[in-house]
Amino acid sequence: MPDPVRIKVLERDGFTCRHCGWNPENGNSADRYRTLLELHHIEHHAKGGANTPENLITLCNICHDEVHRGNIAADTLTSVLKS
Ligand SMILES: [Zn+2]
Ligand SMILES: [Zn+2]
Repeated sequence: MPDPVRIKVLERDGFTCRHCGWNPENGNSADRYRTLLELHHIEHHAKGGANTPENLITLCNICHDEVHRGNIAADTLTSVLKS
């Protein structure tokens, strides 16, 4: 993914997980499994999802895992982005 897009998405999301609100600054020791922020393609890149900020969301590594396990619906992420 091109770096400018990555930075744009991180800035839009305030360098914070849009699902749980974690970020590296506010993270506490109870959150030690949350270690980094990742970008998730809402529409999977492999299925033709674009590398555009509209299709990308900032998530912590834990929420990102949950999305890929199917525990957080794509619809949820889409509505977060619209709010
Ligand atoms: Zn999170
Ligand atoms: Zn992902």
